[in-house]
Amino acid sequence: MAAETLVAGGVEVNVYDAMPSVGRKFLLAGKGGLNITHAEPAEKFLTRYGSRQAQLTPLLQSFGAQQLCDWVHGLGIATFTGTSQRVFPKEMKAAPLLRAWLHRLRTAGVRIHVRHRWTGWDESGGLRFTTPASEQGVRADCTVLALGGGSWARLGSDGAWMPLLAAHGVPATPLRPANCGFDIAWSAHFRERFAGHPVKAVTASFTDATGMTHKRNGELMISAYGIEGSLVYALSAPLRDTIATQGSVTLQLDLVPDKDLARVTAEVAHPRGSRSLSSHLQGRLGIKGVKAGLLREALSATEMHDPQRLATTIKTLPLQLISARPLDEAISSAGGVLFEALDEQLMLKSMPGVFCAGEMLDWEASTGGYLLTACFASGRAAGAGALTWLAAGR
Ligand SMILES: Cc1cc2nc3c(=O)[nH]c(=O)nc-3n(C[C@H](O)[C@H](O)[C@H](O)COP(=O)(O)OP(=O)(O)OC[C@H]3O[C@@H](n4cnc5c(N)ncnc54)[C@H](O)[C@@H]3O)c2cc1C
Repeated sequence: MAAETLVAGGVEVNVYDAMPSVGRKFLLAGKGGLNITHAEPAEKFLTRYGSRQAQLTPLLQSFGAQQLCDWVHGLGIATFTGTSQRVFPKEMKAAPLLRAWLHRLRTAGVRIHVRHRWTGWDESGGLRFTTPASEQGVRADCTVLALGGGSWARLGSDGAWMPLLAAHGVPATPLRPANCGFDIAWSAHFRERFAGHPVKAVTASFTDATGMTHKRNGELMISAYGIEGSLVYALSAPLRDTIATQGSVTLQLDLVPDKDLARVTAEVAHPRGSRSLSSHLQGRLGIKGVKAGLLREALSATEMHDPQRLATTIKTLPLQLISARPLDEAISSAGGVLFEALDEQLMLKSMPGVFCAGEMLDWEASTGGYLLTACFASGRAAGAGALTWLAAGR
């Protein structure tokens, strides 16, 4: 986005990427359909960036969800809005969009150099690159860094830029997993039986270290190591931070959110005659399969036959989350270059002429198209900032 903005302003632009091709993580995002943005009202959209809302608001006001959709349409790609208000390319793929975009960039004069790993600056301020053939130095009038976060390192964004910027005194917070799964010590039986099973239509809640309660409805997935999926990702930032403070956190699941405790208690206590407890729970409350497995994982055989205890557990099933999954497995990264290190044009205050954009900045958001939208918006802003800086002849 920065390259597109700069070349449109008449600047000669060279893009360098360490990988053999550009946009590998963007292509991976396409495997999930490429949720490019979200169609909810702008005021709600902006709240998705939590403590970084203030810093991202001006960028998203200049280039937000609607402008991004217009931009996608300008590349000949139609979009549609799903029932969840998430916006996708009609074909649910990233490759046609990336292809059309790269073609337009190259036609406009942008030169793309792959297999060029940026390794910092030389003594005279030139950019240093390692290529398969040699070490190269490049003198640039200005630079936009868009090096990504630290997840899925094999796609290129490995966070190796952190010490390079730290050496120049650029403040950054460590990269941490965001939109990630969590470890739970499942019994071997539960893991073998239910790994890969979705747990649908539940409410998850927990209280963080500050006493604030977080609550969400949705669907999660049982995995061999613990839990993952959209409901978990949506709560992952405060879950991760609570684990960091307390060592672990208990997430409570309401397995039948459409019925209150009194109703669930009455259904559980309803005479079941010769029916087994399993078919009783399935018949009266629709609890079967993985939900029944979760109950058996949480309660002993004796507790299962205590109606009050069983009803309470159906409404507040405790899951002890031990740790967040490693950064490399996460969908995105929290942490990165602090906004306090940047001016409002996204230029590093301590390094005039060097701009930063995308996931390498210290913000996070849940899935839903908010990640790509803020990456696009910040790339656009950094490009515009660089253009203004160059025009001023500094
Ligand atoms: C599985 C998965 C699914 C996702 N799905 C979605 C989705 O549907 N919607 C959404 O909004 N977001 C999604 N995301 C997140 C989104 O893809 C990222 O937030 C986004 O790609 C970040 O863009 P970026 O340009 O900042 O960084 P990246 O896309 O990571 O690009 C950084 C680039 O910098 C290059 N680079 C890094 N270091 C160097 C160096 N030293 N020298 C040269 N080049 C270097 C890398 O090779 C890479 O090409 C998903 C992520 C994953 C992992």
